[in-house]
Amino acid sequence: MNTMTNDLSGVIAADKAHVWHHLSQHKQYESETVDPRVIVEGKGLRVWDAKGKEYIDAVSGAVWTVNVGYGRESIAKVVADQLIKMNYFAGAAGTVPGALFAEKLITKMPGMSRVYYSNSGSEANEKVYKMVRQISHRHHGGKKNKILYRERDYHGTTIATLATSGQKERAMQYGPFPEGFVMVPHCLEYRKQWDVENYGERAADAIEEVILREGADTIGAIVLEPVTAGGGVIVPPKGYWERVQEICKKYEILLHIDEVVCGLGRTGVWFGYQNYGIKPDFVTMAKGVASGYAAISCTVTTEAVFNMFKDDASDPLSYFRDISTFGGCASGPAAALENMRIIEDEGLLDNTLKMGARTMANLHALMEKHKVIGDVRGAGLFCGAELVADRATKEPMDEKRVAAVVADCNANGVIIGMTNRSIPGLNNTLCLSPALIATADDIDAITGAIDNALTRVFG
Ligand code: PMP
Repeated sequence: MNTMTNDLSGVIAADKAHVWHHLSQHKQYESETVDPRVIVEGKGLRVWDAKGKEYIDAVSGAVWTVNVGYGRESIAKVVADQLIKMNYFAGAAGTVPGALFAEKLITKMPGMSRVYYSNSGSEANEKVYKMVRQISHRHHGGKKNKILYRERDYHGTTIATLATSGQKERAMQYGPFPEGFVMVPHCLEYRKQWDVENYGERAADAIEEVILREGADTIGAIVLEPVTAGGGVIVPPKGYWERVQEICKKYEILLHIDEVVCGLGRTGVWFGYQNYGIKPDFVTMAKGVASGYAAISCTVTTEAVFNMFKDDASDPLSYFRDISTFGGCASGPAAALENMRIIEDEGLLDNTLKMGARTMANLHALMEKHKVIGDVRGAGLFCGAELVADRATKEPMDEKRVAAVVADCNANGVIIGMTNRSIPGLNNTLCLSPALIATADDIDAITGAIDNALTRVFG
């Protein structure tokens, strides 16, 4: 499908001279032979870089975003039509696609009711933190204002969301942080902290321990990823969510589920929390909402939460005094509406379940063959393989060797991911999250590349 014929060496030179890339140590580009990667074109699961190299993208745009795949002309068309008609209006006014997308989204989220638009996952999460703080001020005398977060989870790049980063390596150079955010233990059974039978319940009980230590009357909310993404593809064990829900109810703590990665089908259901029968008070989403065709994020709440911001109209401070300038871009919900139609009409949830099962089966087969794979985890098309130096002791694999596996796959035309960058010893989980349109051949090609890479790197 590559239609690229132009020489793009000038583009690469411009990028090298002027772009500051995300997540990059730029020293490497001082070498004449190492260039930053510039992606030029995409179709389905495949992308081409400025040097004409073709890749299978097994991570949906590096960070689990392009759920419906590249080159979707129908999304481009609805966005173009919308932009010509009415591109933007913000403040207290709405837009036509904003109304229609909210209505459609809510049909997939029983129990939820209101959609608040902004631009990024971080911002959507920070809106919740602000809502929780305002609820605390208005309904609990300012007291119930702390927000719990979980070790290894990630919720964004702003200072407040970094204050809730359970991946401390991401936060460690950016303090001081605002107060009132408290960490609870992770629930990864493979790296167990308690030797008990019902690990899920035990890990959730650890949340209760923190609540009792801090005082339940000081805690307003807890934010959790349904399946932890960047922290190592962690699927909470059986019994975990039931207990979390009970604890939230018991101590009147609002439950915020961060669906920035899992939302819009990644785990084979519309939202990750729906795998577990949870009833959240807040759900945030971003990446897959418009599959990267436009920037959009949503903070979705129940009607009960919404009502807390309109119960005293005589008080000018009672409503949610917040705005997001680009929450008024009509391109976002227009793209999101078409993105949802595609997921529905093409049966992508079902495909995700089938292809996810195939990915897991392939990874388990690789585990039989390669003793460096210590654990395989996943939900839908969101899978990880944790590499270890020693299966018996579970000693983490040296991050450079994990990076070598990723680099080998890249060199051979398959882009995969790895989690937990920057802390030696934790940089150890290979991560797969291809677009939800992946076929059996795609999945086999991806896991085949990992097989070859593991053989080349570890023998
Ligand atoms: N929450 C989760 C679970 C994420 O993985 C991310 C981004 N990787 C975010 C929030 C932040 O999203 P954004 O980068 O759009 O601000």
